[in-house]
Amino acid sequence: MKLDFDLFVIGAGSGGIATARRAAEYGAKVGIAEFDRLGGTCVNRGCVPKKLMVYSSHFPNLFEDAQGYGWSPVKSSLDWEKMIAVVNNEVTRLNGIYQKMLDNSKVELLEGYAKFVDAHTLVIGDRQVTADKILIAVGGHPVRPNILGIEHAITSDDIFHLKEQPKRMVILGGGYIGTEFACILNGMGTEVTQVIRGEKILRGFDEDIRDEVEQGMINHGVRILNKIQLIAIDKTAEGAKVILSQDDKAKEETVVTDAVSLAAVGRKPNTHNLGLENTKVKHRDGAIVVDKYSRTTEENIYAVGDCTNKINLTPVAINEGRAFADTVFGNKSRTMSYENVPSAVFSTPEAATVGMTEAEAREKYGDDVKIYRSRFRPMYYTLAGKDEKTLMKLVVNQKTDKVLGAHMVGDNSAEIIQGVAIAVKMGATKANFDATVGIHPTSAEEFVTMR
Ligand code: NDP
Repeated sequence: MKLDFDLFVIGAGSGGIATARRAAEYGAKVGIAEFDRLGGTCVNRGCVPKKLMVYSSHFPNLFEDAQGYGWSPVKSSLDWEKMIAVVNNEVTRLNGIYQKMLDNSKVELLEGYAKFVDAHTLVIGDRQVTADKILIAVGGHPVRPNILGIEHAITSDDIFHLKEQPKRMVILGGGYIGTEFACILNGMGTEVTQVIRGEKILRGFDEDIRDEVEQGMINHGVRILNKIQLIAIDKTAEGAKVILSQDDKAKEETVVTDAVSLAAVGRKPNTHNLGLENTKVKHRDGAIVVDKYSRTTEENIYAVGDCTNKINLTPVAINEGRAFADTVFGNKSRTMSYENVPSAVFSTPEAATVGMTEAEAREKYGDDVKIYRSRFRPMYYTLAGKDEKTLMKLVVNQKTDKVLGAHMVGDNSAEIIQGVAIAVKMGATKANFDATVGIHPTSAEEFVTMR
């Protein structure tokens, strides 16, 4: 029987679109289903609008710093409505670019929600399509913690459409999203209280990085409440009351916020309503189980990105998808490597990391681990007259001299660590770092001069 498509992709986010286009380049007949705007979480509700808001939030600091360099004071205020409008316009522009990319690649877009009828058949609205291979790239959504009144909280999906700037905001969660939005809103002048259940923000990151970012955020004016149990959110005439208690339940506190609080306590795969029960695809708590080739437990069905809940980052989804397309349609068998995946938190101060944390390295290599650390005030802040610090840290196995991890907090961390990540991925030694000539004067040169 002739099937409609060689490959059908469910979900036109970063992973789905990259895979569809790569498979089409190899000559496959490809279709893709999307019920929402093209580009998925990253373009519509994540990385892109978030980063634009991060840029916007930096201006008050820049205006202040400028005075140290001889500029007269700048009197400026944020037009929230305009900022939201320009951010969303840019998202719309990118939606159009994705449409053009699909058209150029001759990938057929079917607008609607796709559901499995069987392992080779999907229904999308009133259309039924068949495909030899199917790729699930449906992403994830924010979870809401199970507390009383949580319906009064917004999620990161909603923040890009807030009509007014909240004067006060309570943010629940100390992960990437909670931390980034605490800094964005604080930078824009909202009074932010970030509430976390653990001892510090950014669990999983190197301890020095966690401490440095948290202290930096506090210095910039974010109020961080640690070891907190959330009890309830209550909507009142004066705003939303967030009722919290310390771990030992001895102290109860109510924080009043402007009608909204932001819940950023993790994400879950969008797999609940896909008709997976009509296939042999297995999932664990919604996360699709795949092998190293991104193949599910159903022979012709594959899955990439956040719906597999491995490392939930856009470039990881893209890489997984392209590896699948190269292997299955391009006759170039390869798998995605999950070692040394760099990532960044676009907080203020910014943090970025690649490789092992000190704790992970010590657990594996014990006393063979040597730490190189440098903490300094970057040149930029001398005239600006600010006590901003940059922290850089290398985790090295002194037996083999291999650099196991590189971590940074401070301006341009993400841009700097991206380059360092190439060296770490290639297995560079500390001697290789030392043999590299620094670019002077920069902060980045510290990575090749640490002793
Ligand atoms: P994370 O998993 O990063 O963090 C979740 C936070 O919520 C943690 O602080 C966690 O605490 C806390 N938490 C979880 N459950 C509860 C609960 N029931 N009550 C109170 N607190 C709770 O999730 P995010 O939503 O921040 O981000 C989701 C993913 O999106 C990230 O893991 C990342 O992969 C991706 N992302 C990446 C970005 C980037 O690369 N810059 C930016 C934004 C998102 P605890 O630590 O104690 O578990």
